[in-house]
Amino acid sequence: MKKVVKFGGSSLASAAQFKKVGDIIRADKQRAYVVPSAPGKRFSEDTKVTDMLYGCYALAEADKDFSKELEAIHDRYKEIISGLKLDLSMDAEFAAIAENFKAKAGKDYAASRGEYLNGIIMAAYLGFEFVDAAKVIRFTDNGEFDAETTHEIMSKYLGQFSRAVVPGFYGAYEDGRIKTFSRGGSDITGAIVAKAIRADVYENWTDVSGVLTADPRIVKNPAPISVITYKELRELAYMGASVLHEDAIFPVRQENIPINIKNTNAPEDAGTWIVGSTCQKSQYIITGIAGKKGFCAVNIEKDMMNSEIGFGRKVLQAFEDYGISFEHIPSGIDTMTVFVHQDEFIDKEQSVVSAIHRLAKPDSIDIEADLALIAVVGRGMRAQKGTAATVFKALAAVDVNIKMIDQGSSEQNIIIGVANRDFETAIKAIYGAFVN
Ligand code: ASP
Repeated sequence: MKKVVKFGGSSLASAAQFKKVGDIIRADKQRAYVVPSAPGKRFSEDTKVTDMLYGCYALAEADKDFSKELEAIHDRYKEIISGLKLDLSMDAEFAAIAENFKAKAGKDYAASRGEYLNGIIMAAYLGFEFVDAAKVIRFTDNGEFDAETTHEIMSKYLGQFSRAVVPGFYGAYEDGRIKTFSRGGSDITGAIVAKAIRADVYENWTDVSGVLTADPRIVKNPAPISVITYKELRELAYMGASVLHEDAIFPVRQENIPINIKNTNAPEDAGTWIVGSTCQKSQYIITGIAGKKGFCAVNIEKDMMNSEIGFGRKVLQAFEDYGISFEHIPSGIDTMTVFVHQDEFIDKEQSVVSAIHRLAKPDSIDIEADLALIAVVGRGMRAQKGTAATVFKALAAVDVNIKMIDQGSSEQNIIIGVANRDFETAIKAIYGAFVN
């Protein structure tokens, strides 16, 4: 058995947290490949090292003095190194970083140093091999993650070491320039390493005991989810549930490697298992609820629309021409509604509307803003009658008007559109109807 263990920023924010991580790794010999994030917040008003690096590099880019800011970052690492009583100095590394900042090595290079330095410390602390992610994670020239080349290079390279630390969040172009994933991307690195070494489990250690059934900022103490499928998690993550980066599923899903979300501060908790498929029923019919605010509905009407071949294509062409992706397209006999992200759409609104008029010649177009979408997700819904009825009854009881309903044919999710102002009320009501 081999396990890849990824630790998030809050698990590595201080020497005390590092010690917990060391204990967790040493408690299980199978935990042989470690992917660390950069040091996160030690307390709620603290700043993540990644954000400190972005801030510091912005000064360098503007040709301003950044020495004080870089020293503050160095101090974060010094605190960890001395707390762990390691015989390690980052002086040479920080001198190189200062030089590279002056030479404008790029924002991605700057941000990546958080994980890079934490990786060096982690490897020294554990006595594992340090493997720079720039050597084993490859991006294509147009900035896309190159899964195939990475897998080839990484599986070969990591094969030489029975224990290694690979810093999260970044890789490099073929020419060696550093490129990062999007924020929270160390989760992706963990999944890539798990695939490369054919791990039996990908453990993702964070500061909560698993994925929760709803957002704890909206629902008080939501129940944790014990088992969730990749598909369900993808739906929830896409709709805003923030435990795991939404792209971290793909590498492990192909290999059927289960992900176990665990809590560094409560390692005995079982956490959440994310799996390909399961015969375990979810506890509450639904597995989870997530949602996002800030959508617009573009309602397009035309008499006899349904018998006009190509109408939908022409409408979508208008969105495509202006680079706008759509979320949902519920339709009626003579109406079609396109849900888009308000912030993406707002500046291009009038151009898109006139393009729809030009291409599809509708009778009217009406735009409704400030809408929220809520996803009620659950593999258990397929075999169950009355799930939608429960959702709608719960929303009616709290006087929330439903603007849109969309059930995917997989019967794993029901998407509901409501006004932004009803978002929290709606989530609480749905949660109450299923879980309490
Ligand atoms: N340190 C990076 C961030 O703050 C990546 C990560 O933690 O996964 O986004």
